[in-house]
This record gives sequence, C-alpha cells and structure tokens, in this order.
Amino acid sequence: MGLVIGVDIGGSKVAAAVVDDHGTMIEKMRVETPAKTAGTVNDAIAELVWKLRERHQVDAVGMGAPGFVAEDRSLVRFTPNLPWRAEPLGTEMTERLNLPVVVENDANCAAWAEVRYGAARGERNVVVLTIGTGLGGGVVLGGQLLRGEYGIAAEVGHMNVVIEGGLRCGCGNRGCWEMYGSGRALVREARELAQISPALAARMLELAGGEPEKITGPEVTQAAQEGDAAALEIFRVVAGSIGFGMADLAAILDPAVFVIGGGVADAGELLRGPAEQAFRERLTGRGQRPAARVVLAELGGEAGIVGAADLARQPRHL
Ligand SMILES: [Zn+2]
Repeated sequence: MGLVIGVDIGGSKVAAAVVDDHGTMIEKMRVETPAKTAGTVNDAIAELVWKLRERHQVDAVGMGAPGFVAEDRSLVRFTPNLPWRAEPLGTEMTERLNLPVVVENDANCAAWAEVRYGAARGERNVVVLTIGTGLGGGVVLGGQLLRGEYGIAAEVGHMNVVIEGGLRCGCGNRGCWEMYGSGRALVREARELAQISPALAARMLELAGGEPEKITGPEVTQAAQEGDAAALEIFRVVAGSIGFGMADLAAILDPAVFVIGGGVADAGELLRGPAEQAFRERLTGRGQRPAARVVLAELGGEAGIVGAADLARQPRHL
C-alpha cells in the first residue's frame, strides 16, 4: 500500500494528514469541527480528505473518532462531544470518498501509533494512557490492538477506584479512575487548595491572576516546574492515583510497558516519576515479578493521525 490519509476527529477540530509507510506525515490540514449535526461534521471531514487527495495519490483512509466505535470499524455507536448516534461513518465515507475507510476509537489510534512508531516501538504488550481532561486508554496485546467483542475495550478511565463515596463521573457512575488521575483532578485539587489555603497555593494563584477558579493545568505545571511545594504535592497525589490504577491494569494485562501521554504528560518527569513509584508500591506480587517499564509518549498530539493512518493499512483483527 502506498500513501494513506489519517484523520483525527475531535470535538473542536478535525485534523488530517497524508502519511507514508514509515509513519511520517507528508502534508497536514485542519478545520474547526462544525458540531451542529452529524451531516455537517461528515461534510467537513469529506471536504478535508478531498483537499488532500487533490495533491496526493492515496490508497485508503483511517479515521479516529472520539467515542465508541463498533467492531466492524465503521459504525460510530456514540460520541459524547459530537452529534453521532449509531452513525455508519465508515460506510458513508467509503461511498463518498471512493476509497477504503476504517474507523477506530481515537485513543486506540494514539496507542497504536506509540507502539508502531513511538515510545513502545517493538513491544507486543503495551498499555497507553492518554491523560488530558479525562483519562483514555489503548491496549495492545500480543502485537494486536485490543478492541473487545463490541469495540469498546480499554475504557480504562471508568474503572472504579473508590468503592463508596467516590466523585460523580460524566459516565454516570461514581469513583471512576479518571476523576482522580487526570487533568480534571489536577485542577480540582489546585483550586480546592487555593480556596482553603491561599498562602500555600500562593504561586499558583499568582499565575492565575489571583482567582482560584482561573487556575488551570498549565499554571499547576509551571508552578511545579519552578519547584513550588504545593504544586509538586498535587502532582504527586494525581500521579499516585495514576500509578495505583496502573497496578490494577498490570494485574489483568501484564504489559511490558506503560506509555503515558496526553496534555498532562507534557509535565514529563513530574508526572512519570511519582506515577511509576506508586505503581511499583502497589503492584501485585511486587518483588517477585518483573515490573513493567513506565515511559512518556513520544508522538505528542500527532499520534491520533499517525495511528489512524497506520490502522487503515492493517487487516482487521481481534
Ligand atoms: Zn466514569
């Protein structure tokens, strides 16, 4: 197969690129996502792909969608931030573009890219955690993407980590992992501290113009990078929650490596270090078994595009 197009469909933008068989992007374009109806979103995607096709000979298209994608790699069952409900996206796009189109979950696409071309190159058993506002996951087992019977595997952010009295999650349950190990948790902890103890949170407050509600991820990260004790403690708390959940996943999946990516992972070692420490402290059978490596993602925000493109080259599996 020659060149393929990878598309990363988000709630606020659609990005697409022509990608070669080394995972290198040759040309990239993006548009704002018109989120009014499924039809306008589909039009925007098709238009973007056609623009790229005018200048490149491509053989297939892979699309990453932010939601549940069925096992047929076409039907988008549900997207929380886009108006798709049981949308036959792959079938429609195959007709409109006159090319083979496969659709995958966006976190799965990013995970696949890290395994093929990024931080977990050459590994066969990998868990990739995408830590942004929420906590997404992708799992590769035996060299294949774990999709599950209905295409909904690896929604790791909704593992229950607090049995009673946990925080309410957008999924409807309480105590989900992403309420404790995500950018949302980081910001919640920082604002709470700033409200109850402005003196301890002084540096974060200063960066946010003095108002607790204006503290966001970048302020916490900057303060931590400067060595601010309160911000560092918040990173340890959130990274600790991430590490504990990783220990649970290792009990089930036994990966060789955990890859930590997403916007919060821009903090680098501030997040990775305490996450690995908590993971090792909580690992089942610790000391009697090898512990998975914990590494930072390498492909950044492009992973979704590169992974979607590469998955368009792969035969369907699992
Ligand atoms: Zn949840």
